Amino acid sequence: MHCPFCGAIDTKVIDSRLVTEGNNVRRRRECITCEERFTTYESAELVMPRIIKTDGVREPFNEDKLMTGLTKALEKRPVSIEKVEEAVTRIKANLRSSGEREIQSRVVGELVMKELRDLDEVAFVRFASVYRSFKDLDEFRAEIDRLSKDNSK
Ligand SMILES: [Zn+2]
Repeated sequence: MHCPFCGAIDTKVIDSRLVTEGNNVRRRRECITCEERFTTYESAELVMPRIIKTDGVREPFNEDKLMTGLTKALEKRPVSIEKVEEAVTRIKANLRSSGEREIQSRVVGELVMKELRDLDEVAFVRFASVYRSFKDLDEFRAEIDRLSKDNSK
């Protein structure tokens, strides 16, 4: 994104939000060279951040992969495909509105877990057991404790 004032290439996003029902992203940018600020409207489809995998490799955001992950966790669970699609839409909106060009895959995992927690607790535990890394084990266990406590109520 070139600065319209001095033509510099490096600009930073200082604010980012979805407008017109999620089809565009309105961004406030600041030029790193001349410090002028300006607003851009960018197609939401074009501004999906790239995903940084744990090994540092960048890859384009893949909606199918996200959908597959969710449906796999929700296999044989009483959750409609509409609910899953809504969850995918929310996750995408969340990633776009971050305004980041690149996002750690871990962040996507956390968003998926948040959605699954609301959709279905069994699916949440299935997914979490796969995605949580070893250092998060305490957190994972605390979550299971919380879930079993909720169930015994
Ligand atoms: Zn400038």
